[in-house]
Amino acid sequence: MFTPFAKAWRQHGWPSPAPTPRSLDVRHVRNDADATAALDAALSAPDLPELPPAGEEAALRRWRSFRDDDLGDYADGRNLPAVDATSRMSPYLKLGVVHPRTLLAEVADLRGTGVETFRDELAWREFYADVLWHNPKSAWADLRPALSGMRYDEPEDAIEAWRSGHTGYPVVDAGMRQLLAEGWMHNRVRMITASFLTKDLHVWWPVGARHFLDRLADGDVASNNHGWQWVAGTGTDASPYFRVFNPVTQGEKFDPSGDYVRRWVPELRHLDGKAAHRPWEHDAGYAHGYPERIVDHAAERQEALDRLAATKR
Ligand SMILES: Cc1cc2nc3c(=O)[nH]c(=O)nc-3n(C[C@H](O)[C@H](O)[C@H](O)COP(=O)(O)OP(=O)(O)OC[C@H]3O[C@@H](n4cnc5c(N)ncnc54)[C@H](O)[C@@H]3O)c2cc1C
Repeated sequence: MFTPFAKAWRQHGWPSPAPTPRSLDVRHVRNDADATAALDAALSAPDLPELPPAGEEAALRRWRSFRDDDLGDYADGRNLPAVDATSRMSPYLKLGVVHPRTLLAEVADLRGTGVETFRDELAWREFYADVLWHNPKSAWADLRPALSGMRYDEPEDAIEAWRSGHTGYPVVDAGMRQLLAEGWMHNRVRMITASFLTKDLHVWWPVGARHFLDRLADGDVASNNHGWQWVAGTGTDASPYFRVFNPVTQGEKFDPSGDYVRRWVPELRHLDGKAAHRPWEHDAGYAHGYPERIVDHAAERQEALDRLAATKR
């Protein structure tokens, strides 16, 4: 359970960041030709996303601009994918470019809901690492067996439409295209796209988790796979399986201006404001090649609930 973990984590406190060493004990390693070739191939892949600038200095620049400009409003801003209101520290944290202790030390004297919420998000990262440490099998198997009898599908065409951002659900497609372009996706949209794959397409969560890990610059087995399990209803603090995100109303609620959708889905740029979330309600909605919905959300929601009921029986 996250809440008791986070409480204990806060009470325990954190050591100060390690001091910067005067020199580094750098050892020569064998030049592994296979590893170098694999790296070269990966870096010359035609569909490589645009990655954030590398290195500790770049990470700290980004961190300080977030801390000074956005941390105060983080509690509200963090839910709006159209706004650049989160820290974007995740790739740096994942790769060890900055340590969470550095960030925690820099906000130690700050108070307010923004900074409290931010600390809690770092606690989620620690929590999932801890869950994985104690349950290594949960990386690729359901943490809780409650849904072990669930029937899943493998609809290859629909999975491909999801991966490439062509499901016909605007906020889902915007998120999946952001992932391909930036190697990052906004947290709210990670939840919506994960819910779509698991509840609307009835696909077992590891299929989606694998794709995210392939594409995310912050791809982390603990945070990613347990984030997926949270959405799928098989993990810790699981959102109950019967809670199925509505991809249209979620889009309208968290992207009320429609700006996020228009940024990532050019075929919908001619629709103003919220209209971008419902092209089917506008005469010219499909005038620029946007695909029609691949499934009917209301019907698939019911199907997900029926499968859950069958599992319980
Ligand atoms: C399906 C799904 C998959 C995810 N996959 C990953 C992943 O592979 N790697 C990853 O780092 N995060 C993952 N997350 C968590 C979260 O989406 C990202 O950490 C966050 O979007 C990164 O952006 P940020 O750095 O601007 O976050 P901020 O909002 O600025 O948060 C600060 C830091 O707190 C941590 N954090 C925030 N939210 C979470 C969370 N829910 N779980 C764990 N840590 C969190 C991250 O280290 C993040 O950098 C996933 C969430 C979901 C729902």
